[in-house]
Amino acid sequence: MPKPSIRIYGDPVLRTKAKQVRELDGRLYDLIEQMVAAMCENEGVGLAAPQVGSLARVIVARSDTEEGTEVFRLINPRIIAAEGIQEGMEGCLSLPSLRGQVQRSAQVVVEAMTPEGKDITIEATGLLARVFEHEIDHLNSILFVDRAAADTLCWLIPDPEAEDGYRLEETTIEEAKRRFARLRAKRQAKEEAQQ
Ligand code: ZN
Repeated sequence: MPKPSIRIYGDPVLRTKAKQVRELDGRLYDLIEQMVAAMCENEGVGLAAPQVGSLARVIVARSDTEEGTEVFRLINPRIIAAEGIQEGMEGCLSLPSLRGQVQRSAQVVVEAMTPEGKDITIEATGLLARVFEHEIDHLNSILFVDRAAADTLCWLIPDPEAEDGYRLEETTIEEAKRRFARLRAKRQAKEEAQQ
C-alpha cells in the first residue's frame, strides 16, 4: 500500500461521517499501522482515519508519560461519559500550523474495540482526554475550528528568536480557508506532475 498523505482542510473526506467497522481484516490492520506511522512521522498525538482518506471509524492516539509512550489503536470508539471542563490550545495535522482555543471535557470514558477484537474501556484526563475528544469528533466530521473561539485562531510560526522557537500570529477562519485551499492546489499539482 502506498504511504497515505494527510488530507488537508477542504478535502470532502474530512466532512464525511465515518462508518462503523463491522469486520476486522488485513486491510483494516494495514490502515491502523499506516495511521500510527503517519501520526509518529508528523509528530502528532492523534489521528483519525478520515485524515488519511478512509471512512472507517478508527482513531489512533499516543500518550507520553514518565513510564514511556503508550499508543492507542481504537476501533468504533465512543465517549460514554464526560465530566468537567478544560480550556486549551489545539491544532490538527489536517490544518497545519493553525491553533485555536477549544473547550473540552476534562475527563472522558471511551469504549472501543482493539485490533485484536477485544472490547476495552479507557478513562482519560487532561491531554489524552482532549485527544480522544478531538479524534472522535473527526469521525463525526467535526473539526477543531468548528469548536474554537474565533478570536483565538492563530498561526504557529517558527521563530528562532522566540523562547520556545515559535511565535503566534492572529488569523481568521477565512484567511485559514484560503491558505489551506492554496496548499491543497499546490499539492494536487505536485501529485499530477509525478504521475
Ligand atoms: Zn485533527
